[in-house]
Amino acid sequence: MTTRAIPRTVAGREWSRADLRDLTSFCSNEGVACALDEPLSKHISMGIGGPAAAMIWPPHPEAVATVVAWISDRGLDWRVLGGGTNVMAGDQGVENVVINLTRLIEGTHISETLASFPAGLPTAQALNMTVRDGLDGLVWATGLPGTVGGAVAGNAGCWGGEMATTVETLDVVTAQGRCLRLAAADLDWSYRRLDLEQKAGAGSIVVSANMTLEPGDPKALSKRVEELHARKRSSQPVGARNAGCVFRNPEGDRSAGLLIDQAGCKGMRVGNAEISSVHANFIINRGDASGADIEDLIERVKGEVKARFGVLLEEEIRRW
Ligand SMILES: Cc1cc2nc3c(=O)[nH]c(=O)nc-3n(C[C@H](O)[C@H](O)[C@H](O)COP(=O)(O)OP(=O)(O)OC[C@H]3O[C@@H](n4cnc5c(N)ncnc54)[C@H](O)[C@@H]3O)c2cc1C
Repeated sequence: MTTRAIPRTVAGREWSRADLRDLTSFCSNEGVACALDEPLSKHISMGIGGPAAAMIWPPHPEAVATVVAWISDRGLDWRVLGGGTNVMAGDQGVENVVINLTRLIEGTHISETLASFPAGLPTAQALNMTVRDGLDGLVWATGLPGTVGGAVAGNAGCWGGEMATTVETLDVVTAQGRCLRLAAADLDWSYRRLDLEQKAGAGSIVVSANMTLEPGDPKALSKRVEELHARKRSSQPVGARNAGCVFRNPEGDRSAGLLIDQAGCKGMRVGNAEISSVHANFIINRGDASGADIEDLIERVKGEVKARFGVLLEEEIRRW
């Protein structure tokens, strides 16, 4: 295999075809689904991305630990994928193994005001369960796509809430396959970021999130959820393939979306990639946009905003 300048989640040697064959038999023995040359475009909300050398779907935290330990022991590396709603992959794909957590959905526990959710559970389902059980604290996640683990790993937030202030403890599998429970208060959270590496090491994987919520009235909670859904529907390109906000909001009082809009970029297009006319911080895939189209469009928007306002926008989406 040739070396490509793709950042890796953990330092490791490159996967060979023999390693991939060994992984396939290991996964088969462990009851973990595994596919070689799996197109990332099938697993990323933007609908772009070439193949991953392999994709595996561990069904429970022990399987995550076993498979990660197996990969680490061989000096190899991996990436982690949740719902793929905040990731952009290039047309060349990735040469390492992608651990897809969307089958890690067993193990929800709700008792009194304590709720524990597995990392692969869609955040929307976690929200629905709390509302059904009359628990307040996750309503801010209304309209947030993706998984609980992805939301924690990126400190997702909206409507004034964020994961940093919602989560109490996290269950994490380290790169050596060890299971740890970490207190959220001991972790370094910032705007759309969680630094797990400091406490758990590079390549750590969130396998569940535990929170203490407040008692609330289910009817009032679902009314608030409906209101927030309606606001999202009117302010975001719902139904179009996208990856949420592409850029982080810069310092100051103007959001990235406002700067992009004022720089005249709404509707700007490269191939089938387009700056949404509903919300300028969203890029939508209008058809068969390539990763290169989206990368070009990102660079053009950055150039326009820099030329007009002197602000260099930083990306919020994770590029693979
Ligand atoms: C229409 C739309 C609206 C959105 N609105 C918002 C919003 O209001 N606020 C907001 O913050 N975001 C928003 N997003 C972005 C995105 O949905 C969230 O950040 C979401 O929480 C990401 O979850 P995911 O499971 O899809 O993560 P992925 O996209 O799969 O992964 C994101 C990153 O987290 C890592 N990761 C994923 N799971 C784990 C894990 N278990 N352990 C360790 N690392 C992991 C991945 O390696 C990757 O680097 C929106 C996206 C869309 C498409």
